[in-house]
Amino acid sequence: MTAAPTPSAIVVGGSVAGLAAALFLARQGVTVTVLDHDAAVGSVPIDAAQAEVRRSTPQAAHSHIFLSRLRLLLAERAPDVLEELRAAGAHEIAMADGRPDPLVSAHLPRGDELVALAVRRSVFEAAVRGAVLRQDGVALVAGTSVTGLRYGPAAADGTPVVVGVDLEDGTALEADVVIDASGRRTSLPGWLAEVGVEPPTEVVDCGISYVSRFYERRPGATPPRLTRGFTTGSSFDRYSCLVFPGEGRTFSVTFGILPEDRELRGLTDGTAFEAAVSAIPSMAWWVQPHNAVPISDAKAMNGLKNRMRRYVVDGRPLVLGLAAVGDAASTTNPAHSRGTTLAFVHAAAVADAVVAAAGDRTALALAVDAAVERDLQPWFDDSIAQDALRLSRWRPAGEHEAPVPVEGTLANGEAAGAAQLDPEVWARFARLQNLLETPDEVLADPALVAAVRRVQASGLRAPGAEAPSHDELAALVAATRAPKGPRVPEASRRLVAQAS
Ligand SMILES: Cc1cc2nc3c(=O)[nH]c(=O)nc-3n(C[C@H](O)[C@H](O)[C@H](O)COP(=O)(O)OP(=O)(O)OC[C@H]3O[C@@H](n4cnc5c(N)ncnc54)[C@H](O)[C@@H]3O)c2cc1C
Repeated sequence: MTAAPTPSAIVVGGSVAGLAAALFLARQGVTVTVLDHDAAVGSVPIDAAQAEVRRSTPQAAHSHIFLSRLRLLLAERAPDVLEELRAAGAHEIAMADGRPDPLVSAHLPRGDELVALAVRRSVFEAAVRGAVLRQDGVALVAGTSVTGLRYGPAAADGTPVVVGVDLEDGTALEADVVIDASGRRTSLPGWLAEVGVEPPTEVVDCGISYVSRFYERRPGATPPRLTRGFTTGSSFDRYSCLVFPGEGRTFSVTFGILPEDRELRGLTDGTAFEAAVSAIPSMAWWVQPHNAVPISDAKAMNGLKNRMRRYVVDGRPLVLGLAAVGDAASTTNPAHSRGTTLAFVHAAAVADAVVAAAGDRTALALAVDAAVERDLQPWFDDSIAQDALRLSRWRPAGEHEAPVPVEGTLANGEAAGAAQLDPEVWARFARLQNLLETPDEVLADPALVAAVRRVQASGLRAPGAEAPSHDELAALVAATRAPKGPRVPEASRRLVAQAS
């Protein structure tokens, strides 16, 4: 009897989603080639202290947190990555410690389940990359662009069958399955259009832009307790502001603003950024010069969308031999901090499906679509619903309709607000926030609905809600930002200031 050939996979994109897929596939005996057009993906090991934001992942210049569900998945399938993250100084933040209210401890199990990972995204990626590079059966090829898909003979019903990829140097690579992990700007739709495949795609603007800046706490500066589990901050009057801890003494502060808000775009000026954070009483500690120093410029990120593509319609795959993971499969509003967790959960499901399908491409396509329906679609729908509600508050009256409330179901924001005041709601909401239960399971639970309604009826207000109005903040930004002219990066300005 001859042994079955080792299954093979090509992964397009060697960022967090592609690395996760490669790791989970190789650990089940699949031979994997990961291709990334960014040469920086090859520079390893990365010293966590100098973690660079790669040019092809601008989102790494923004606040990230890695949710409990991701940490549990790492503990189960990649404990070496978790160890490396700990060694790099990642903090494991127990939700039980996340509220100042000591009663919370009584309601939250102190076990290992509700624990998030605080670490900068670039450091997180470096830790996963290190594990992939040590893993037998994976080749990580940096500095190579995939320019298209290769097709074999179509299936009996005419469905195109992907058998490999074309590379920019004119060569080609073939494998049993191609996994697209090339991020939110994936070229996949264009490549598939060449063979007449147009996956149904839902795109809804998030209606938010981010401005983030990284800092390092001074040695000995003890930070105030986080008030929202793994962050501190809130949504205020047409803007939000949150602090996210990173590894070691690093942390970041992120403003969320309306994309059309020209006035608050001035937050990319470092002086204006710090003046704005200082004006929010619950946040001010974090940017006082005696507590922390900035270690990056304030960077903006725009053009964010909730996006979902489906490759099976009415039970029929549109294409075979292909799967998408990470942002290439679906994106949601980063405000919910879910992207990487969803990427890992889905990458694990895709890896399992590749192995279980044992070469049956139709079975693989159906299993991957079932995983999308189970693991991604609920969070995509929830993100759109949350955005719609926020935008109905943030945009002028009548411009953005509020979603019609569903009888017996809470809006996510209602549960989040009550969680600030009630330990029982907090304990349950933390499970939703960390992707351990779905929005439907939590937000339609009659016991939770009743508890939230009790909190709302009490008229209590969560601490930390005091902040300048939008117009006060805009005036502060205008008054403190550098005069218009050629833009000098903040880091260069500091160097000039130090030298003079
Ligand atoms: C502002 C912001 C804040 C966020 N905060 C959080 C958070 O708190 N928690 C969280 O979990 N998630 C967060 N996210 C989401 C998270 O950053 C993304 O989900 C995640 O980075 C997506 O990873 P990816 O591997 O799918 O894609 P990417 O990281 O975008 O990587 C795609 C890779 O593909 C490569 N590539 C592209 N095209 C090709 C090609 N043709 N050939 C070869 N290589 C190619 C690129 O070089 C790149 O390395 C946030 C996102 C944003 C924008």
